[in-house]
Amino acid sequence: MRYKELVDVYEALTSTTKRLEKTTILAEFLKNTDADILPIVTLLSLGKVFPVWSEEEMGIGLKLLMKAISLVVGVSPEIVEDNVRDKGDIGLASEHLFGNRLQSTLFTRPLTIVKVYNNLVKIATISGKNAQSKKIRILIELLTSASPKEAKYLTRTVLEELRVGIGEGTIKDAIAEAFDINKEVVERALMLTNDPGIVAEVAKEEGEKGLKRLNLTPGKPVKPMLAQLSKNIKDSIEEMGYALCEIKYDGFRVQIHRIGDEIKIFTRRLDEVSDAVPEIAEYIQKCLPEKDFIVEGEIIATKEGKPISFQYILQRVRRKYEVERLRLEVPLTMYLFDVLYYEEPLLDLPFERRREILESISKSKKGKFGLSKQVKVTPEFFERAEDLFEYSIKKGHEGIMIKDPHSPYMPGIRGKKMLKFKAEPETLDLVVVGGTYGRGRRANLIGSYLMAAQDADGNLKTIAHTATGLDDATLLELSNKVESIMTEKKGRKVKAKPEIIIEVAFSEIVKSPEYESGYSLRFPVVKRIRDDKGLDDIDTVKRVESIFNMRD
Ligand code: AMP
Repeated sequence: MRYKELVDVYEALTSTTKRLEKTTILAEFLKNTDADILPIVTLLSLGKVFPVWSEEEMGIGLKLLMKAISLVVGVSPEIVEDNVRDKGDIGLASEHLFGNRLQSTLFTRPLTIVKVYNNLVKIATISGKNAQSKKIRILIELLTSASPKEAKYLTRTVLEELRVGIGEGTIKDAIAEAFDINKEVVERALMLTNDPGIVAEVAKEEGEKGLKRLNLTPGKPVKPMLAQLSKNIKDSIEEMGYALCEIKYDGFRVQIHRIGDEIKIFTRRLDEVSDAVPEIAEYIQKCLPEKDFIVEGEIIATKEGKPISFQYILQRVRRKYEVERLRLEVPLTMYLFDVLYYEEPLLDLPFERRREILESISKSKKGKFGLSKQVKVTPEFFERAEDLFEYSIKKGHEGIMIKDPHSPYMPGIRGKKMLKFKAEPETLDLVVVGGTYGRGRRANLIGSYLMAAQDADGNLKTIAHTATGLDDATLLELSNKVESIMTEKKGRKVKAKPEIIIEVAFSEIVKSPEYESGYSLRFPVVKRIRDDKGLDDIDTVKRVESIFNMRD
């Protein structure tokens, strides 16, 4: 099949903005394409040469491409650059330049789709010595045979920005329309394989039955199941009947595949990062059986046992060089939280069962790696989830996940079956202005503390009470401190001189007439007592207001 036929389809697709029309144009084309080249035609119609999960990328930058164009067209690189700047698009600039080309393509052989595809694959896979000059030679070979319109789309494909308005939704609908198959069946097949080329081919050759047979395969990542925000821990647990609550680690999500002896690690965007994080593969080798599987977890970086900023993990995961040095500087820890495949696909099993399987197959190495901390919580004892939240914040993590035990794994779906309840990333430094004694056995301890921020004039304005986040020893110390600076005592309530500064984490700022600042904190948790700070350093009501205004 000639490349020109695909180019005509690109042009037709660009001529309309209506999605339904685009779908029909693409569907007609896919329908009339032979099965053997259907996978590559499908990928190329999306402007891709490789499926998303592939490690391969074209590796040709704009500069190099412009150089190739200048050599083929016979003008200086500056003229090519001026044209790209004028038109604002490499494709339009190429079309123009190729239109004015002195040497015509009359005597060259017409480009076929297979030739274009093979050369693009070659360009992507060449590496090592003189890779750049070899890449450019192959590119020039392609461009020499290209008509102006072909050059328009070839150059865009090389830069991986086709701009014909075909996305995942359109390709799904087009495959369904072309081969008369239920959209949901196509969607499921796309979700499980992430390979529209294979899905189109199987749809054409084997129809709906064939697509239903496609399943998760180790080595090919699936999009991760996503989490929605929980507004309220108790309500969320009640809605699920009971829940499996876990610490929400603030790190980098990875999907780890074992195929034979090979371990592949993918990010949530399905990029492979196996070489950047060798210790993760080593751990997996040691702690999971030598079977084919897909597990998911969160990687975090730690210093002296405490999680450190997400930026450090990014440094590790994006690194190609000096991996060994960074490995010592930024050691990684991992917590596994799901299994998607173990000798067979497990997506349809309820989460509770998948977790049991995960527990039964992993020999966790204490301290360094393990499974996510999980607690089963029923609505009657929902406080256990709040305790887990508090524990999570104290340990420097992000909050908790609330998961429906009955839910299958739903790739790419952000539904109600997996929720997150997070602390605001910001914390507030507040001053203790009072407190309330406990009851019963705790009657001689101040258990809850009234906290204040300062307004623009330096006046203190109360904002919340907090009773949580302190271990017994710290609680005793704080209680004694407050008693020593007490200015008033009425019943169980006390007032204190504003001297003790505490750092407070919380899940949300809400408006509240109950406190002088007009705001209140949901789920305040004392992170630590800030002996290093004075009254001048506490946060302002203005900052509280600005965090409130930034909420999503
Ligand atoms: P967010 O990125 O805010 O949408 O929160 C969801 C993310 O939390 C997931 O994609 C994971 O990367 C991360 N996460 C941390 N701990 C867990 C856990 N125990 N279970 C599931 N996801 C977790």
